[in-house]
Amino acid sequence: MQEHEDSIAERGVPERFNSHAYLNVLDTSPAEQLCLIQSTALQDIRTSAERHYPHEACGLLLGTLTDKDWHIDEGREVANLNTERSADRFILDPEAYRMVDRELRGTGREIMGIYHSHPDCPAKPSPSDLADAWDSFAYMIVSTYQGHAVDTQCWALNTKGGKFREVTMQEVMV
Ligand SMILES: [Zn+2]
Repeated sequence: MQEHEDSIAERGVPERFNSHAYLNVLDTSPAEQLCLIQSTALQDIRTSAERHYPHEACGLLLGTLTDKDWHIDEGREVANLNTERSADRFILDPEAYRMVDRELRGTGREIMGIYHSHPDCPAKPSPSDLADAWDSFAYMIVSTYQGHAVDTQCWALNTKGGKFREVTMQEVMV
């Protein structure tokens, strides 16, 4: 979901995103699952990413799993505990995760994945994103340039678990 097509091309992609280490985390075959996200949730996630620029925002993707697709109805911002490298790393507050997990118990909704932002970088996962990734979770990345959310992409581990595949996002109007 590229909001401003030329933004990244204009501003240039940091060199590391073209390095072997970065390209090696991507499996270019498309994922079978879809990420269906309610427009209000997507807007909240973009706003969260913009508010934290030039630092990384992070949060939880909440919703329900139907068949194999993720249905995201809420993006819940959570503190980024990494204050030393908040421009390019995030550590999602584990206590907040446990609290949301408890809150959702028995409701039919669950934590479906995690979003975070990439200030001045593409919405593609990095090697450190891969190191932290869990199976069956959706990973949404918002690229922010100069305080604006310019691109949002969704990723998930492939079946072997060694790389990320891009997940097609569909915005559901509510
Ligand atoms: Zn990242």
